[in-house]
Amino acid sequence: MPASSVSFSSPSSHRVAVVGGGVLGVSTAAQLARRGADVVLVTDSELTAGASGRSLSWLNSFGGPGVRSSAYHELRLLGIDRYRTFAHRVPSSSGYLRFDGGLTWAPPGDTEQHRSAFAHMRRCGYDAVWLNRDEVADWTPGVDPAAIPDEGAIFNPGEGWVDLTALVRQLATDLTATGGRIVTGAGTVSVVVEGGRATAVRTAAGERIYVDTVLLATGAAVPRMVQEYGVTIEDATPVALLVRTPPMSTTLRAVLNTPRVAVRPAPDGSLVMDSDAAADTVITHPDGTYEVKDSTVEGLLHEASSVLAGNPELTAASYGVGPKPIPGDGEPVLGGLEEVPGLFVAFTHSGATLALIAGELLADEIITGVRHPLLSAFRPGRFG
Ligand SMILES: Cc1cc2nc3c(=O)[nH]c(=O)nc-3n(C[C@H](O)[C@H](O)[C@H](O)COP(=O)(O)OP(=O)(O)OC[C@H]3O[C@@H](n4cnc5c(N)ncnc54)[C@H](O)[C@@H]3O)c2cc1C
Repeated sequence: MPASSVSFSSPSSHRVAVVGGGVLGVSTAAQLARRGADVVLVTDSELTAGASGRSLSWLNSFGGPGVRSSAYHELRLLGIDRYRTFAHRVPSSSGYLRFDGGLTWAPPGDTEQHRSAFAHMRRCGYDAVWLNRDEVADWTPGVDPAAIPDEGAIFNPGEGWVDLTALVRQLATDLTATGGRIVTGAGTVSVVVEGGRATAVRTAAGERIYVDTVLLATGAAVPRMVQEYGVTIEDATPVALLVRTPPMSTTLRAVLNTPRVAVRPAPDGSLVMDSDAAADTVITHPDGTYEVKDSTVEGLLHEASSVLAGNPELTAASYGVGPKPIPGDGEPVLGGLEEVPGLFVAFTHSGATLALIAGELLADEIITGVRHPLLSAFRPGRFG
């Protein structure tokens, strides 16, 4: 062990370094510590500095046939299930974890896909109700019925949303309460591979932390970081934009997914919103900085206002912009790398929905060394 290294171990337990302070890293670290591992979570800046700090975080498995594999659907359902358990265990989460449903509608005249999604969800037993515009207020408040097309909308009563910053704060408290360590401000951390296996992580300052297993939960950076070891993880990560209003009195409770904007309430009474079309207008400069046009933010606020009861005037308090991790085939990438023993990855779309279940299953695999059947469809090796 070099002189500049620190030992992070008790000889009897499994030593794990988790790289990345987003919801997947913190969730897995908390589960590892709970199982008795010696865990250190190391991240470049603050917790939730990446996608987890600017996420819509709709908890769902909405979709029609072919949208995702049945294994992925099942994992998402388990993800929502674990949030319900979490809500029971942490009653104070009621302000930042809500199961107030999701309301989704298609552009006028374009309901064929929507009908098919509805039929599929009903067949799968995924709670879904088809509502016409006059019925919506009976199920969920705060929506302008005039915005809903003649064909109606789908309400999914079992869906919800979570504020990931608050969730991560709680999981970080759980982690440290069970003996885990958190190192923020470590700069760009890399994995040390010696003798063909992962043996340590190295902070930007050169400090090495020797462990038995490393989990890379660095969000959008995962595919690039594993390339060094000849591992390909296909990547379809786009740039995403999330706009937040100041606190306001909104009666909205559900997550609204509408053709031009998705919007939900937040714990402080503000609204957060996004859309693919708005994100598509963000300019990424060669130096990696982003340019967001005022007209994009104003357009998104306008779209949100038009779907809310009373069409309130909305302003932006802040926005977050940056990569939204999405694997090339859209399905999660979770598990160990065959090419580098001791190195695990967590790289997924819908990481809000999956955070608790993915953390639990990854921690099981890392601690027991036994591959979990629920992760078999999501192995990193599938990209060959
Ligand atoms: C606009 C938007 C809307 C979304 N909507 C939904 C939704 O409705 N439902 C849903 O389920 N999911 C949604 N998601 C996705 C979800 O938020 C993400 O999947 C999840 O937050 C990813 O968490 P993560 O921990 O993998 O990555 P991140 O949160 O990005 O965390 C990775 C961390 O690693 C750090 N890091 C990176 N490289 C290094 C390095 N070399 N060394 C040290 N640290 C490093 C980063 O700074 C960051 O803190 C949305 C995301 C966005 C952006």
